[in-house]
Amino acid sequence: MAAACIFCGKAPESKTKEHIFPQWLLKMTGFHSKDTSVGTNWATGKEIIFPAKNYTFPACDSCNNNFSSLESQVKGIIERLIEDADVNGADLESLLDWFDKIRIGAWLGVSYMNKSSFGLPPNLYINDRVGIKDRYLSITNTYLPEKTLNWSGANTLTFMTSPTALALRVNNLVFVSASTDFLVSKSVGFPFASWEMQMPGSKIGHFKLAPGTGKIKPDCFKLKPYIPGHIIRQPIYNAAREAYPLLYASDHVKMHSYDTNSGIGKLFIQKNQRTRILERNDLFNFQMMEAKSIYGKVPVVKPILELQIEMLKSRLSRMKFVSETERRKQIIAANTIISYTREQIRQYNY
Ligand SMILES: [Zn+2]
Repeated sequence: MAAACIFCGKAPESKTKEHIFPQWLLKMTGFHSKDTSVGTNWATGKEIIFPAKNYTFPACDSCNNNFSSLESQVKGIIERLIEDADVNGADLESLLDWFDKIRIGAWLGVSYMNKSSFGLPPNLYINDRVGIKDRYLSITNTYLPEKTLNWSGANTLTFMTSPTALALRVNNLVFVSASTDFLVSKSVGFPFASWEMQMPGSKIGHFKLAPGTGKIKPDCFKLKPYIPGHIIRQPIYNAAREAYPLLYASDHVKMHSYDTNSGIGKLFIQKNQRTRILERNDLFNFQMMEAKSIYGKVPVVKPILELQIEMLKSRLSRMKFVSETERRKQIIAANTIISYTREQIRQYNY
């Protein structure tokens, strides 16, 4: 596979190296001088371990620069979250953008390292996914006074097939980032996909949309991966609005969007049973003192893999297929992926 820029997917112009996990994050967590496991080599079954600071992939100089202000901004935001200081809605949107970048970067990293096992070149890059689809982020504070960095969920067949959900632990914070088409729309009362059809050989799904209910529910998942915690949901519907303008002309959508013309919904933040809708300049504090008495060791791996399975099953349940043969083929493929992932849950039962 020829080297492709991890942002735009083209041959890099004035080639630079982009860290999948940025240097400021490695320094903040004490991993700048440490080795890290970045997953399994699926051909040999061996763990791939090398110095965290060498986990880099090619990028264009200009693509790299486009993200440098986001990096410095997010460094400050994560520092504030670690210390329970306030952040505002605009900060959280930047954080969600950054998690889109990290999730796709981790996926590209695993794909590149396993190119001999999985063959096909990646069909999407970071620029294709930052702020493009509905997104979800949960934030849990363990209040454990330790420096650590680990990410879970990148090394599964579920994730390799589709980079839907990744967990990242940064010192005392555990984040779960998830994103896919219409992930949160239905749960916040927006128009949603009643069915989806994947044309063979096409990268883009075809969706049939249903009108939103206008009702806001507490969560978009059945699983509750990290409790206690805060859950942030943001509907992003630019492409869907172009295809179905009337469905998006509702008062509910207007009232709960920062920008209807660009299809950017507001942030819905959930804690316990309360939903707060945040304006971009509203301050929010993620303090969760109740966690201090509950937390010992936080299971990180199992919940994220279970969440990936839930997302895959939920997508499968709304899929329509061009033929019965295609349906059977896809269901067998999905069941294989799910059973592999369940086996990993058994292996990493923590
Ligand atoms: Zn590029």
